[in-house]
Amino acid sequence: MGKPTGFIEYQRKNIPYTPPQTRIRNFLEFKEPPDEEQLKIQGARCMNCGVPFCQSATGCPIDNLIPEWNHLVYLGRWREAYERLVKTNNFPEFTGRVCPAPCEGACVLGSIEPAVTIKDIECTIIDRAFDEGWVHATPPAVRTGKRVCIIGSGPAGLAAADQLNAVGHQVTVYERDDRIGGLLMYGIPNMKLEKTIVERRIRLLQQKGINFITNAHVGVDHDINQLRAQNDALLLATGATVPRDLPLPRRDLQGIHFAMEFLKANTKSLLDSHLSDGRFINARDKNVIVIGGGDTGNDCLGTSVRHGCRSLVNFELLPQPPHERGEDNPWPQWPRILRTDYGHQEAKAVLGQDPRQFSILSKEFLGDGHGHVAGIRTVRVEWYTEGNRRLFREVPGSEQEWPADLIFLAMGFLGPEQFLAEKLGLETDPRSNFKAPYDRFHTSIEGVFAAGDCRRGQSLIVWAINEGRGAAREIDAFLMGETNLV
Ligand SMILES: Cc1cc2nc3c(=O)[nH]c(=O)nc-3n(C[C@H](O)[C@H](O)[C@H](O)COP(=O)(O)OP(=O)(O)OC[C@H]3O[C@@H](n4cnc5c(N)ncnc54)[C@H](O)[C@@H]3O)c2cc1C
Ligand code: SF4
Repeated sequence: MGKPTGFIEYQRKNIPYTPPQTRIRNFLEFKEPPDEEQLKIQGARCMNCGVPFCQSATGCPIDNLIPEWNHLVYLGRWREAYERLVKTNNFPEFTGRVCPAPCEGACVLGSIEPAVTIKDIECTIIDRAFDEGWVHATPPAVRTGKRVCIIGSGPAGLAAADQLNAVGHQVTVYERDDRIGGLLMYGIPNMKLEKTIVERRIRLLQQKGINFITNAHVGVDHDINQLRAQNDALLLATGATVPRDLPLPRRDLQGIHFAMEFLKANTKSLLDSHLSDGRFINARDKNVIVIGGGDTGNDCLGTSVRHGCRSLVNFELLPQPPHERGEDNPWPQWPRILRTDYGHQEAKAVLGQDPRQFSILSKEFLGDGHGHVAGIRTVRVEWYTEGNRRLFREVPGSEQEWPADLIFLAMGFLGPEQFLAEKLGLETDPRSNFKAPYDRFHTSIEGVFAAGDCRRGQSLIVWAINEGRGAAREIDAFLMGETNLV
């Protein structure tokens, strides 16, 4: 603990964002450069708790050694802080940018004061490590002769590949997209996570000896059973890619898209041609409606604002969350409170009002008579509780029509695509995820493992890293009879 009275003396201060009016002019990251003296002060707020909830229980899923690096940052010992950080986290430059930070929700200081700025500190440690040249690709000294095939290059597949390669197995990652990274590359927009940051990490993994094969759609142009026969173990890390649909009347109108169609095409066009190839869904001068809150919906807002949309509305079926924790949501649980994310801020700054409409149910899409969407009809709902169940009923007379040229469906994901499970004869769970117990990650088929969103359902990058690391540990034990991986 750097400074015993730090948590009393200093206030929480985040690294600020560039103002919305400036940052929406491009797709670059918008955090201001960190002030290291200020970060040391933020590190001094850490109380070095006897039971650090930030790194366990409801806090960090990968048990980051948070109090240790807070202390080291306060003392200005950045290199040691970096060495502690990478003991538990393969990709802190991703989590430091886009993790919702369950560690901060669980921080003990957060029970009486605003939590320690753990995420800012994490991101600054790893960015500094790259700037200083401390991050090296160290290939394993000895190879085991075992071959592992990983399908899917999102954070779960990449974390598993990094761990398995480190203990000497020959790893090949198959990815059906033209770029590596899964949702790190083609889900999360560039302004939240610049793709140069993802590419830098991929280069390091390649230099360590991991093989990546892109444009390789396993189950379509690569035989899954052949890959299984050619390798000593196989890991499915294919993500939860089946989006939830909204099968209302006139769903087939043009202009109604799943959010991922919008976000993926935008990033691909941005990377291929700085959006000059026109191969993306352009929201410029359009009335845009985004259905569904959450990260995906928010990313659609930020992208639409950058295109220069005419209007922007975001529907959420649930009621508006409270500004403070409710009595049924005490520390150290994740605070279920109203969060104003970057997309909400930008829409408000540019278009004059918060785009969110809560407790609203979509009833039918409206057409323009020429096969294109022209709007949507909704009704307000009120929520009530019956026993343990939360239910809603429509509010009479609250029907409304909203104009829309583009509607993005961002209502979450149902699970993984099923064709690989079918070809392997693999068991799935009642939610259609690949069945494999947590902590073992072994599916119903000998030598076939599953990790990340395809196993646990739609989740977070930090959980994908947790599962990738866990699956690597289990695969190593399966191949070698024992393991030193944690
Ligand atoms: C728009 C959006 C924004 C998000 N924002 C955040 C955020 O800010 N913070 C956060 O923590 N989480 C966020 N998430 C969630 C997070 O991105 C995911 O939980 C995480 O990426 C899951 O990792 P994964 O490795 O399991 O799968 P994915 O990242 O989905 O990767 C799976 C990969 O497998 C590939 N694949 C699938 N089938 C095959 C096949 N048959 N052959 C070859 N390749 C295949 C896919 O192309 C994909 O590249 C967001 C999700 C979305 C959709
Ligand atoms: S819970 Fe908060 S105050 Fe306690 S050790 Fe973790 S970061 Fe520091």
